[in-house]
Amino acid sequence: KRIPIVVANWKLNGGIDLLCASVAAFIGKHFSTKIAICPPYIYMRDMLNFLQHSEIIVGSQNVSKFGSGAYTGETSAQMLKDVGAGLCLIGHSERRQMFNENDGSCQIKVNQALASDLMPVLCIGENAQQREAGITNDVLFRQMHDALADTDITNKEICIAYEPVWAIGTGQAASPEDAQAVHGFIRQELCVIYGVERAEKIHILYGGSVNKSNARELMNQEDIDGLLVGGASLDPNHFIEICKQAE
Ligand code: 13P
Repeated sequence: KRIPIVVANWKLNGGIDLLCASVAAFIGKHFSTKIAICPPYIYMRDMLNFLQHSEIIVGSQNVSKFGSGAYTGETSAQMLKDVGAGLCLIGHSERRQMFNENDGSCQIKVNQALASDLMPVLCIGENAQQREAGITNDVLFRQMHDALADTDITNKEICIAYEPVWAIGTGQAASPEDAQAVHGFIRQELCVIYGVERAEKIHILYGGSVNKSNARELMNQEDIDGLLVGGASLDPNHFIEICKQAE
C-alpha cells in the first residue's frame, strides 16, 4: 500500500507567527504518514532551517517554467532543490484561473521539476460547470495527457492532486465515493501513460475542503493516497489532527 502523504498549501496566507506555530506543533512529533508544508516562497528557507531535523517536507506552491535568465520574479526548480525543497505544486486551479496557467505551461513545469529531482504535484480538477455538464473525466483526461506528455519519470517521483474546483474553499468536499470514482479514473489514465506497475506506485491526493471530520473517510478509499489541505492547514492543531486521521 502507498504510504499516505498529507500536504498543506498555505496559499497567500500566514506569516512569521504561523511559521513559528507550525514548527512548534510539528517538531519532535512522529507520524506514519509523510507530511509536507507549502508556505509562500519567502518563508521556505526559515521553515527548512527550523525543520531540518524533522521528517517534515517543505514544498513550494509553484515553480518557474524557466531554468534561468531574464525572468524577473521567477524561482527555478533547481533553486528550490538547492535550498532543500522536496516538492512543488504545479497547476493549482487558482494559478490556472488567475495567472494564465494551462496544461502546456504545466507540462513544462513538470519537466523542470523532474529534471531537478523535485517531486511535481500536478493539480487537476473540473469546475462546477464542467461537472454539471458531465464532462469531468474528459477534462481530467485532457489535463493529464497534456501535462504529462513527454515526461520521463524513470527513477523520479511524481504525484497527482485531484482538486475539484467547486470543492476548494467552499466547505463542500467531494463525497468519498465520488472522489474514489474520479481517483480510479486518474489511476487508469496513469496506467495508460506510465504503465501499470509504475502507476500503482503513484500517489493521488485529494484536495478541496478537507478537514478533520472528513479526512479519514476520504483516506479509506482505495485510490486516495493523501490529502492536499488549504484552509484547515492554517491552524497547526487542525492540520495535525488531519495528519493523524490519515495515518
Ligand atoms: P481548501 O482546503 O481551503 O478547500 O483548499 C484546497 C486547496 O486548494 C489546496 O490546494
